[in-house]
Amino acid sequence: MTLPVAPVNTSTPLHIETPLIASSAMAGPTGRQVWLKMEALQPPGSFKIRGVGFACQTYVQRGAKRFISSSGGNAGIAAAYAGRRLQVPVLVVVPETTTERARELIRREQGDIIVHGASFQEANAHALELVGPSDAFIHPFDDALLWEGHATMIDEVARAGVTPDAVVLSVGGGGLLCGVVEGLRRNGWGHVPIMAVETAGADSLAQAIAAGERVTLPAITSIATSLGARQVSAQAFALSQQGAATSAVTSVVVSDQAAVQACLRFMDDQRVVVEPACGAALALVYADAPQLAGFKNVLVIVCGGVTATVAQLQKWAAQ
Ligand SMILES: *Cc1c(COP(=O)(O)O)cnc(C)c1O
Repeated sequence: MTLPVAPVNTSTPLHIETPLIASSAMAGPTGRQVWLKMEALQPPGSFKIRGVGFACQTYVQRGAKRFISSSGGNAGIAAAYAGRRLQVPVLVVVPETTTERARELIRREQGDIIVHGASFQEANAHALELVGPSDAFIHPFDDALLWEGHATMIDEVARAGVTPDAVVLSVGGGGLLCGVVEGLRRNGWGHVPIMAVETAGADSLAQAIAAGERVTLPAITSIATSLGARQVSAQAFALSQQGAATSAVTSVVVSDQAAVQACLRFMDDQRVVVEPACGAALALVYADAPQLAGFKNVLVIVCGGVTATVAQLQKWAAQ
């Protein structure tokens, strides 16, 4: 099947401007305003297209003829989407553990798939070997171009006239965190604190903060696979070490079960399906966590994610 292609224009962004919704359901009885930045509504289903799209456009302008990704998740799907829109072939190298659903979503965006290795590490190493002189490697979280692209979500919040006094977001490798910090700074909001949420078993930022240095988790044991970076980027860790004058980052860890329950509740409240990776951030708000005490205008990045179905969420909830 060949999807229709819009005319190629390398300067129009590949992401869409997403709604910013004031959620009465999530504010509950707290009296606080909860603003949802609905990145789940991006065409490839997550915020990743902002950074990945911007990086891909930049690499094409620099002469790239092919994109290579090693993500079997939302980053690989976003890369395939960007390639289709830019009419540039995309190769995604995924490990054997990648679900049939994720493979199907990459194929649907006309990405080519190579299955290699038992884990992400092996697939990633193979992908790097395949990168030739005219290829661009699209990293899932550790590239300054990604952060520049992700920052556009904060530009949109500023344009909408909403001034957050705290931001809640999920952390995997920390690309979203770095992008949001960049967006806050370039809109004069560098002092706004950030609640950086992970699930237990994918808590590479929390453990790095506790250890005082970047640690590598022996394995990812959380179901929130999109948060499953065994080590956060150097930039994300550096941001977590800064004082209150510049986007103080508070690390919070929630359980898989809390993340899944938040996804199910969010389905009812906002009629949108997201992955547990996103549910982690939502769980903090639903729990009216102590970290949010005193904040009146909380911006929640609803990062989205397409690799979990409703049936899968219900199955996890029953476990
Ligand atoms: C990638 C991803 C994350 C984590 O983003 P990082 O930039 O790796 O921190 C969170 N949620 C979803 C749905 C994702 O796809």
